[in-house]
Amino acid sequence: MTEIFNSTVLETIQTPSFFKVVENVFETQTHLNFVEKLWASWYAYMQNDVLATGLLFFLAHEIFYFGRCLPWYIIDKMPYFRKWKIQPTYIPSDKEQWECLKSVLKSHFLVEVFPIWTFHPLCKSLGISVAVPFPPVTQMLKEWALFFVLEDMWHYWAHRLFHYGLFYKYVHKQHHKYAAPFGLTAEYAHPIEVISLGAGTVGFPILYAYLYGNLHLFTITIWVILRLFQAVDSHSGYDFPWSLHNFVPFWAGAEHHDLHHHYFIGNYASSFRFWDYYLDTEAGPEAKAEREARRKAKAEQAAKKLN
Ligand SMILES: [Zn+2]
Ligand SMILES: [Zn+2]
Repeated sequence: MTEIFNSTVLETIQTPSFFKVVENVFETQTHLNFVEKLWASWYAYMQNDVLATGLLFFLAHEIFYFGRCLPWYIIDKMPYFRKWKIQPTYIPSDKEQWECLKSVLKSHFLVEVFPIWTFHPLCKSLGISVAVPFPPVTQMLKEWALFFVLEDMWHYWAHRLFHYGLFYKYVHKQHHKYAAPFGLTAEYAHPIEVISLGAGTVGFPILYAYLYGNLHLFTITIWVILRLFQAVDSHSGYDFPWSLHNFVPFWAGAEHHDLHHHYFIGNYASSFRFWDYYLDTEAGPEAKAEREARRKAKAEQAAKKLN
């Protein structure tokens, strides 16, 4: 039995259709906002919180991942957009897109079928709420920002590790099949990589809930969707004048990650540029030349001091 409602309004309805539940919730729960009403309808309709949470995550992943990839697929078909393609000589063929789609789908079903049954019990044991109304937007904004920063740190170090010897050869090499990425390649990766990098996305909200409690499942759902959008966009292969990193200089974006795929080295972070900047691991010939110039200047200074 679902725990989302305090009232028993829906218990009088015998096996209602989803739309009947939505209608009922919209009529009776007028104090809730539109999204809260939909959220409540889902849990009320499912009448099984374990399945409701598991399916919600699975469906949100599939819908928002492939939904975000579709515009990039269409853009790849339109020559008008080529002037903003970072590696304009390479346009993915339909065959490549199809092979990538099949592999990503297989990985989704293999890796994600298990958390469907275990995620809700885990949330419950950590006190993660599914009830309505949701927490204040200001609280959610702070939590999303925190998860972005922490995930970026995790991604930087795990990704950098994946570029060493055996880790690269047996795990990360698969993701580097495409030197010029396209949207769908965001999750084209070995299952070990999907799990290890995914741990940064799901692990920090779990840790946060463990340490502080008071986290809502809606906050986690939106965070995962935002991170999915970031991953797909950074693999899109396009850098527009209106791309976010042109306005927010520390945002990584496609330009940052495309260089990683092109040169196979450097630019390891996911969302932000500061890890690569401060740890001197920026990718590309310009960054390399600057790095060498800095090293040379340092060596010259050291030699001067000795003289
Ligand atoms: Zn890599
Ligand atoms: Zn990539």
